[in-house]
Amino acid sequence: MLKGDDVFKKIIAHAKEYGFIFQSSEIYDGLSAVYDYGQNGSALKNNIKDYWWKSMVQFNENIVGIDAAIFMHPTVWKASGHVDAFNDPLIDNKDSKKRYRADVLIEDHMAKLDDKINKEVEKAAKRFGDSFDEAIFRQTNPRVLANQEKIDSIRKRFVKGLEENDLKDLKALIEDLEIVCPVSGSKNWTDVRQFNLMFNTQMGSLSEDSNLIYLRPETAQGIFVNYLNVQKTGRMKIPFGIAQIGKAFRNEIVARQFIFRMREFEQMEMQFFVRPGEEMTWYKHWKDERMKWHHSMGMPQSLYRFHDHDKLAHYANAAADIEFEFPFGFKELEGIHSRTDFDLGAHQKFSGKKLQYFDPETNESYVPYVVETSIGLDRMFLAILSQSYNEETLEDGSQRVVLNIPPMLAPIKAAVLPLMKKDGLAEKGREVMDLLKYDFMCTYEEKDAIGRRYRRQDAIGTPYCITIDHQTLEDNTVTIRERDTMQQERIPVEKVKNVVLEKIKYKV
Ligand code: ATP
Repeated sequence: MLKGDDVFKKIIAHAKEYGFIFQSSEIYDGLSAVYDYGQNGSALKNNIKDYWWKSMVQFNENIVGIDAAIFMHPTVWKASGHVDAFNDPLIDNKDSKKRYRADVLIEDHMAKLDDKINKEVEKAAKRFGDSFDEAIFRQTNPRVLANQEKIDSIRKRFVKGLEENDLKDLKALIEDLEIVCPVSGSKNWTDVRQFNLMFNTQMGSLSEDSNLIYLRPETAQGIFVNYLNVQKTGRMKIPFGIAQIGKAFRNEIVARQFIFRMREFEQMEMQFFVRPGEEMTWYKHWKDERMKWHHSMGMPQSLYRFHDHDKLAHYANAAADIEFEFPFGFKELEGIHSRTDFDLGAHQKFSGKKLQYFDPETNESYVPYVVETSIGLDRMFLAILSQSYNEETLEDGSQRVVLNIPPMLAPIKAAVLPLMKKDGLAEKGREVMDLLKYDFMCTYEEKDAIGRRYRRQDAIGTPYCITIDHQTLEDNTVTIRERDTMQQERIPVEKVKNVVLEKIKYKV
């Protein structure tokens, strides 16, 4: 994968130029951290959704899917803890007037120290060659040890500050670490304040407090409040899961990095209901399963890693992220959380309705425990886009930009390209289109030189180009060109469909 700021800029430009992602309301100069998906983007997004949905709901007999409304009764968000605790600590730099998340400033500072350690290790590995023992080096090198000590002591204070909601000490920590504003370079900071991330609006015509409702900041609560409906009507037996894909809204303080952090985004979440006491087994199970799912798409496994949480959310007794190496470094892509009985217990308390399960095996009633898997659809999109973007120099010295999107997710699976319009080639092309388009997404193009048409398909990640020429009219064969290898092969028209279907099928 290509890395760095420049590459990220190129990917953003490419996403716009080829109809993947546009800034929302662009003709009005855009709306910050809100994006629209274009013709190729929405196709790719739908394919990711389809793969996730099928992996959850179709391939697991004990998981069903729902589609809950975005608006919910306001008490839902009281019960879930979002009204009181869905906050980020924010801090402003008085000189640049830029706003930051205090926790992110401190985390970035620790990441820089970690980078220093890794550079030291890399240097030593080069110097010592085969005889290098990384573990011993990390335990004995004075510079590595000094930086590791710094990180450990910052982390201890940082986690304590967050846990005790000690905003004064978070600010003091930023000052003690001499963190400067990346824009103004100054240390002239305001106090740290908590900022609630939920958007709200009024329902009905009166703008009284009682009409205040929220745009959901996560899809999970729509699953919890329907737990009993689904369990009863689906006659579900524990352990079982409920999956959902839908929009979520967060008034993010710092919304940079393109579709990585948006104010309106989409989540794919699954809540798995289990017997109390068995949650750690299921937590481990889902951590493994989710990593397998990521690997099944065929992107390099080295781009993924687990990160266990330092500070657990108020509802969790274990939590880990699956991080992906974006062009700007390893960042959270998906969270796996053991949420205990916090949510169902809270809804039971606030609604006064029993949300329990009678377990026929143990003859007991209990509030189930929950293990959640939660992935941002847009972040998954960005992971695929940034890993797929490649610039290649070909044998003849020319350049091509290609998106090596996993074929099963590619927006368009095959392009049908008659060499020219005349001599009946266009008609033959339409015939081939009709043969294929009911099984997968195809496109038809007859303009421009064939080389240019190949480049255009490479740039949107189409796995196969099918060329129709004069020989096709004689013996009913076509040339099929594979995107990544650019190899061409002559095959009978009737074989094309199976070649493509074989390439794009889900490999779980
Ligand atoms: P972060 O720490 O990056 O803000 P989070 O821990 O708050 O994320 P969760 O509440 O666990 O995120 O949400 C689950 C998933 O939803 C995340 O792993 C991420 O993929 C996605 N997600 C969360 N916030 C956003 C956002 N503002 N824009 C896009 N995706 C998001």
